[in-house]
Amino acid sequence: MTRNKATSTPAAPAASPLLSDSVLTHEHVVPASHGHAFRVKADSHFRIVDLHGEQVVDLMAWVLPPHSKSQQPTEKLSMAYTRFHLSGATPAIGETLVSNLDNPLLKIVKDTVKTHDMTFMSCNPSLYEQQGLHGHRSCAENIAEVMEPYGLSLGDIRGTDPFNVFQNTPYYTLKPLGCSRAGDFIEMKALADLVVAVSCCPYDVGGFNGGKVTDVAIITES
Ligand SMILES: [Zn+2]
Repeated sequence: MTRNKATSTPAAPAASPLLSDSVLTHEHVVPASHGHAFRVKADSHFRIVDLHGEQVVDLMAWVLPPHSKSQQPTEKLSMAYTRFHLSGATPAIGETLVSNLDNPLLKIVKDTVKTHDMTFMSCNPSLYEQQGLHGHRSCAENIAEVMEPYGLSLGDIRGTDPFNVFQNTPYYTLKPLGCSRAGDFIEMKALADLVVAVSCCPYDVGGFNGGKVTDVAIITES
């Protein structure tokens, strides 16, 4: 679902309090356990907002091919290249996430949580099947669904490491250590024309994601 402050009429309900920034006006709610892809132009900002708390959001990003809309994107956000450049295990405000060609793609400009993960893969069908959970939604499939129009498959997504926003897994700790609260957000600035894909992580096993997967919001400039 989407809401746009610029198109609201005086009779419409008040805009979401999330839309308090004069530049970031468009809110898209990503339903629990689902994905969303959106384009951002270089120098524009966007936010990922945890609406209910303790919800992890897997994020991947690709540079849009400049010459052909039908061309499959190949340059993408890389956690391995990014880890090489960072001062710590998670990006600080002002630090940059880079691509597999070592180009800067996203800059962290605001962050009310400051705890994220850059080491784990996205949850995927195999992970759930190993636990007897057949047909369970997964981040890898969510992102594959929304990136299919760009020519990417589940195999492409499973070969891409995500930036796990709001995921608290220090030193590879696989315990339900939620860290974000309702209303927390991270804001990033795009440093190239990108398509960004996010997944509201469906991993509801063992108390992760607060034990109940919930919606998140993406706030963009238009
Ligand atoms: Zn997941």
